[in-house]
Amino acid sequence: MKHLPRVLIVEDEPAIAELIAVNLRHNGFQPTWAEEGVAAQRELDAVLPDVILLDWMLPGQSGVTLARKWRADPRTKAIPILMLTARGDEPDKVTGLDAGADDYITKPFSTQELMARIRSVLRRRAPEQVTDSVTIAELVLDAASYRVAYQGQQLKIGPTEFKLLHYLMKHAERVHSRGQLLDKVWGDHVFIEERTVDVHIKRLREALGSAGAMVETVRGAGYRLTAQPVVTSAPVAAPLAMPMAVSVAA
Ligand code: CA
Repeated sequence: MKHLPRVLIVEDEPAIAELIAVNLRHNGFQPTWAEEGVAAQRELDAVLPDVILLDWMLPGQSGVTLARKWRADPRTKAIPILMLTARGDEPDKVTGLDAGADDYITKPFSTQELMARIRSVLRRRAPEQVTDSVTIAELVLDAASYRVAYQGQQLKIGPTEFKLLHYLMKHAERVHSRGQLLDKVWGDHVFIEERTVDVHIKRLREALGSAGAMVETVRGAGYRLTAQPVVTSAPVAAPLAMPMAVSVAA
């Protein structure tokens, strides 16, 4: 099961919002719709999207004002913003980009072009969501086919464990605290306890089988993925001999 990127559509014209939402669904995205800034903020407070499609002309706060606000907020500042504008003139585009939009698209636009722009901002902002593969020792993760293999054997792995492994592999040999992992893998940890990380690390180790030892617990600090795990006397393939994740208050 692949993570479907969430797209928040902030658009006051229902017909346009509906058209965009239908196309997003057909293209493997999860759209949500807010008619104006206050509703959009409520959506953002509940769950962070992967991309925001932000209309320029909105009742209440304008798209530019909202883009500035979300860029200034540490919680939302990394979310790609694609501005929708009915105006095509240069100064406005510049204003939109200055406000922190990653890109803009002028109405009327083709839905194909919009999908291409969304994929493009996602690639630039969140490279872990698009196709690439990572190899550490004999462990291979292929994001395009959503597969993980160890010593040539395919492994079954859940969606959260996949994201977690992807991040750890891309930043191997470094120690990541639980808070950092929540930030980078879950994207938002406002409503998630740090203990959740331990649960998923445990599941990840189980899914990895004999490669589970590559995910090391660094006591009091967090977790690290390493090509050369410390060899313990216990056989690494036995699940019960796995080091248990310890919840340590930082
Ligand atoms: Ca509008």
